[in-house]
Amino acid sequence: MAQVVLENVYKSFQTGRGSKSGSDESAISPTAVLRRIHLTVRDGEFMVLVGPSGCGKSTLLRLIAGLEDVTAGNILVGDRLVNGLPPNQRDIAMVFQSYALYPHMTVYENLAFGLRRATTADTATDRNGRKRAVAIACASARIAPPVDLASTARTLPAWAEAVLVSATRSLPKRWRYLSAQEQAIAQRVQAVAQMLQIETLLERLPKQLSGGQKQRVALGRAMARNPQVFLMDEPLSNLDAKLRNETRAQIVSLQRTLGTTTIYVTHDQTEAMTMGDRIAVLNAGQIQQIATPLELYNRPANQFVAEFIGSPPMNFLPVQVQSPLLISHPKFRMTLPASWEPALRRYSGRALTLGIRPEHINISLPAPKNLSVRVKRLEALGSETYLTVGFTDGENGTLLQARVEPDRSVTLGDDLWLSLMPDKIHLFDPTTGEAIAEY
Ligand code: ATP
Repeated sequence: MAQVVLENVYKSFQTGRGSKSGSDESAISPTAVLRRIHLTVRDGEFMVLVGPSGCGKSTLLRLIAGLEDVTAGNILVGDRLVNGLPPNQRDIAMVFQSYALYPHMTVYENLAFGLRRATTADTATDRNGRKRAVAIACASARIAPPVDLASTARTLPAWAEAVLVSATRSLPKRWRYLSAQEQAIAQRVQAVAQMLQIETLLERLPKQLSGGQKQRVALGRAMARNPQVFLMDEPLSNLDAKLRNETRAQIVSLQRTLGTTTIYVTHDQTEAMTMGDRIAVLNAGQIQQIATPLELYNRPANQFVAEFIGSPPMNFLPVQVQSPLLISHPKFRMTLPASWEPALRRYSGRALTLGIRPEHINISLPAPKNLSVRVKRLEALGSETYLTVGFTDGENGTLLQARVEPDRSVTLGDDLWLSLMPDKIHLFDPTTGEAIAEY
C-alpha cells in the first residue's frame, strides 16, 4: 500500500477549433482545468473527491491514473514520482462508472484478464519471470491464503507445461491442464469472487448480469490485481437508490478489510459524507477544503463548502454587525454567543453573510430575535418534515428551509415564528466567501 501525493498540480487542455492551416493560433487556447492542487492521501486512507459537475474531479483521477499528463507539478505514489510513467506501471487499478467489462468474456475471464496481463508484463522484464509471475498472481495474502508458490512453480518445466496446456485445451474444462500461473490466478479469482459474493456468476457474460452485479465484477477486477491504489470514478451512478446504498456500504467495508489507499470521485455529497475518511471538496479546478466529513459539516472553510455539504443546503442571510455580539437583519436582531467576540471585533459595522442549516432552525414564539415567516412549501418525509418559508411581508422573495419534527402540525400558508440556534450560526465574509472562525 502507499500514500499518494499531488504537489502543486496544474492541468490545462487545448480548447477551440483552430484553423486547418494552423495559422489561426488564437482559435486554440489552453484552458486551465485544475490549479494549485496540493493533496496527500495517506497510506490506506479512503479519500473522496467531491464537487459539482465540471469542477475537474475526473481529470484529477485520470492524472493520477496516468490517462492524462500533468501540465505542471508532481504526482507521487509511495515515494515514486510517477509523472512520466504509463498507467500500467503505476500499480493503480481504476473502476469506472461505465464498468468497462469486456462483453465477450465471462466474469471469470474478466477477473483473470488483468492478472494475466500483469504477469505477462512482469515475465517480460524478470529473469525469474515465471516464478515471480505466479507470485504476483496470488500476491495478496489478505484476500487469498497464498499457495506454496515456490513448489507450485517448480512442478514442471515451462516447456512441459506449454505442451500439456496445448494438448488438453479442447478437453472438457475439468480435464484441462492448468499451468501453475493459471492455478494461482484461479485461486485468486475464487477468493475475490467469494469476497464479493459473485462465485455463482463466474461463467456468465456481462450482458447476463444486473447493474449491481456488473459493478461488483468491475470492483473485483480491480481488487484481483491487488494494486497499491484504487481509483474509483462515480462507480455507483448507474445503480438504483437501494442498490447504491448497499454497494456503498460494501465498498467501504471492503476497503477497510483490504486497507488499500482509495481515491473515490463523486458529485453526491451524501456519498462523500458516508464513505470518506476525509473529503477533498473541489470547485472550478481548485481544492476548497480537505477535512473529515464532520469537520466539513461543522467548520466549512468557505460559503461554497458550507452550501455544498449538507442536504438540504445551508441557508444564507445578509446581516450587519452592530456591536461585536449583536447582528441585525431587516427582520430580526440577535445576540451571538460570547465566543464570537474576538473574531467579530474587526467586523463592527460591516455586512456579513449569516449561514444556518435547516436542522438548526426551530419553530418558536414571537420575539425580536425570531423570524416571522409563512410556509410556502412542505415536504413530509415521514421521519422529518422540511418547510420552505418566506418572510411574512415578503423580504425580496428570500426563501429559507427548516427541518421540523414530523408530528408538528404545520400546513401550507401557516404563519410561524422561527428561531435560529445561536451556537449553530456560521458567518462568512461576503466579498471573499471565507468563513469567519468563531474564536
Ligand atoms: P462530472 O462530474 O460532470 O464528470 P468532473 O468534475 O469530473 O465533472 P471533468 O470531467 O474533470 O469534470 O472536467 C473538468 C473540465 O475539464 C470540464 O470543463 C471539461 O469540459 C474539461 N475537459 C475535460 N476533458 C477535456 C479534454 N480532453 N479537452 C478539453 N477539456 C476537457
